[in-house]
Amino acid sequence: MSATILLIEDNEQNRYLTTFLLEHSGHRVIHAADGPTGIDLASRERYDMILLDIQLPGMSGYDVARVLRSRPALAHVPIVAVTSYAMVGDRETAILAGCDGYLEKPIDPETFVADVMRHRHARSAGEAT
Ligand code: MN
Repeated sequence: MSATILLIEDNEQNRYLTTFLLEHSGHRVIHAADGPTGIDLASRERYDMILLDIQLPGMSGYDVARVLRSRPALAHVPIVAVTSYAMVGDRETAILAGCDGYLEKPIDPETFVADVMRHRHARSAGEAT
């Protein structure tokens, strides 16, 4: 089923490839180039998922995730972090900030969409225990 995805990514090449792969699989992608714009868009329209670059100018992706998670209306929206940082602890930091998944750049075009969609229902099932 088609998903509407908010992509928060400042790098044009990453944006192009990510959008191409997702749209090629039938999904809809809305783009924001920085954190504040992404937060604003996320608050105004309903998205099935948020793809979040961690290395953003100004406000980091971790901070964006924390703000998104602080809003009850967005509590159910899965957030997948995408980062080129190869540092130990990034994954844990992303999860602690409220992300549901973590993908490393460079992304693998063969598996990217499936890797993203694996987290699509991260917040809609298995929480009621
Ligand atoms: Mn970036």
